[in-house]
Amino acid sequence: MTTNMRLWSSIAVWFALSVAGIGQKAPADTILLHGRIYTVNAKHPWAQALAIRDGKLVAVGSDKEIARYRGPSTQVLDAKGRMVLPGITDSHVHFLDGSFSLERINLEDVKDRDEAVRQLKKYADAHPKDAWVLGRGWSYPMFPPTGLPDKKYLDAAIPDRPVYLEGFDGHTWWANSKALELAHITKDTPDPTGGEIVRDPKTGEPTGAIKEDAADDLVRRVIPDPSRDEKLQALRAGLKHANELGVTRVHVMGGVNPGEGDISEIDLLDQLRKSGELTVRFYIAYRMDPPAVTDAQLKQIEQMRQKFHDDWLAGGVVKFFLDGVIETHTAAMLAPYSDDPAVSGSLLWDPEKYKQYVAEFDRRHVQVCTHAIGDRAIRLALDAYENAATTNGTKDARHRIEHIEDVSAADIPRFGKLGVIASMQPLHAYPDDDTLNVWAPRVGPERVQRAWAWHSIQAAGGVLAFGSDWPIVTLSPWPGMQNAVTRQTTDGRPAGGWLPSERVSLADAIKGYTLNAAFAGHREKNEGSLEVGKLADFIAISQDLFDVEPPRIGNTQVLLTVVGGRVAYKSEGF
Ligand SMILES: [Zn+2]
Repeated sequence: MTTNMRLWSSIAVWFALSVAGIGQKAPADTILLHGRIYTVNAKHPWAQALAIRDGKLVAVGSDKEIARYRGPSTQVLDAKGRMVLPGITDSHVHFLDGSFSLERINLEDVKDRDEAVRQLKKYADAHPKDAWVLGRGWSYPMFPPTGLPDKKYLDAAIPDRPVYLEGFDGHTWWANSKALELAHITKDTPDPTGGEIVRDPKTGEPTGAIKEDAADDLVRRVIPDPSRDEKLQALRAGLKHANELGVTRVHVMGGVNPGEGDISEIDLLDQLRKSGELTVRFYIAYRMDPPAVTDAQLKQIEQMRQKFHDDWLAGGVVKFFLDGVIETHTAAMLAPYSDDPAVSGSLLWDPEKYKQYVAEFDRRHVQVCTHAIGDRAIRLALDAYENAATTNGTKDARHRIEHIEDVSAADIPRFGKLGVIASMQPLHAYPDDDTLNVWAPRVGPERVQRAWAWHSIQAAGGVLAFGSDWPIVTLSPWPGMQNAVTRQTTDGRPAGGWLPSERVSLADAIKGYTLNAAFAGHREKNEGSLEVGKLADFIAISQDLFDVEPPRIGNTQVLLTVVGGRVAYKSEGF
C-alpha cells in the first residue's frame, strides 16, 4: 500500500465509525441510566446518567450523553427515575463490634425493664451453647430512680450463666452475679483508674453496674475471645448490612474494646479483600489508651500506614478518648454538672501528655481523632491541635474531634479557624426521653443551648462529617439524616424541633454523609461526590429526599448499592 492509499483507507475507517455512532465513546464497563442523580458536586448538582470504567466514573451527564458509552458488553443499570446519591460514608463506627451486635441480643427498642429481662431470658434459652449471654442497647431510664442497672433483675431470670450487656451508649455495662463472680469482682475490688464498679451505698456490694472501659476491662478480659473465623463470619454479616443501608465507606474509630483498630483488625479485612468479599471501604483509626503511647504502638502505626493506604483499606490514623459521657457524669466539663455540683467529670489522659502525643503524631503526619464530649475535653483537643500546628508548622492536618456533644461558646469558631473536623453523629441528638430527661438536666439550661451545635460550628466555617457510632445507634444513615434536618422524634416531638437553630439543611446533611466525610478522611479528591475520575460508589434510593417531608427521610430504603463499579446490593424487584 502506498502512503496515499494508507491515508485514504484510514480516512474511510474514520468516516464509517463516525456514521455508525456520532460521538461514540470507548465503551464503558457499566452505565447507569434514567437516574435522578444528586451528585453533591456543587458545579453540576444534578445529572441523569453515569458511565464507569475500571471502577471509576468516566462520565456524568444526560441519558443521551451517557448512551454513547454503551458497547456490546456494557452492563446497563436502569435507575428507573429513582434518586441516586454518592455512596454513604459513615465517619464514625465500631465495625467489628457492630458486626457482632447483629447476632447478639439488642435491647435498643425496649423501654421497659421487665420486658428487657423477658427478652433476655428468651434469648438465653434459644442460645443454650453460648457460654456468655452478651448483648447491648439498654438505656438509663429503664432503671429509675438512679438510672443505673442492677444485677438482681438478671439474677432472677438467668442465675446460672454470665450475662453482660453494654448500655446503648457504650459507656456503662449491666452484669449479673455470675459475670461478676467470673471476673472476680467483689466488694473488695478497687475501682480501676478511669472506671467505676458501682456499689450499694449500704453494703458496699457491687450492684452489677460497671462504668467506663477501665472497669469494663475487668469483665471483658474473662469473656472468651471470638476465634478468627467467628470474627470473619461477623464481618461478612456487617458488610452485607452496610451495603443494604447504602454505606460504602466507614471510618472505624478504634474499637469499643481497647486495642481495636489495630493491625489484626485490618488483616481480617485484608483477608476478605483477597477472597473478593470486601464491599465496604475502610479507614481505620487505632485506639490509644492511657497512660502512654508505647514504642510498639508507634511502630505498628507506621506499619499499618505502609501496608494499607489504598482505596479499600487505609490505616495509620489514631484515636484518643479524652472523656466519658454526660449521662453518667463522666464527660469532662469546664463547670460542675447542673444536677450534681460536686462533679464535673474528668479527663482520661494527662493533658500535657496528650498534647505532647498529638504534637508527635502531627509531626509524623498521622491524623488524630479525639473522642471529646464535654466542653473541657473539647477545649483540650482544640488546644492540642492548635499547639501541634504551631509547633510543627503543619498545614491541612484535618485532625478531628469525635462527638462534640456540648461545646463552649468560645470554642465554636475554633473549628473553622484551626481546620479541625467536627465529626458528629446526628442521631445522638435524637430528642427522646433519654436526651431531654437525662442528658439535658445534667448540663442545665445554659449549656443545653449548645447541645450538638451542628449549625453554629458549620456557620463558623467548621466542616461537619456525619456518622452513626454504630452499634451505639443504627448504622442506617437515614434516621440520622432526618434528625440532622428536624431535631424531632419520629412522632414529631418537640414541635418545631429541639434547638431548631442547630438544624442543618438537607443538602448539608447529605454532604455530611458524603463529601465532607470524604474530606474528613483525606479522600475528597477520589470520593464523596459523583464526578469524573472519582470512584464509582453510588446508591439508588426509594424516594427523592428533596421531595419528601423531612419527617419521612428516615423511611428511605436503599434499592441499589454500587461500590467501585460493582453491584454490592440490589433490592428485590429493582
Ligand atoms: Zn464511638
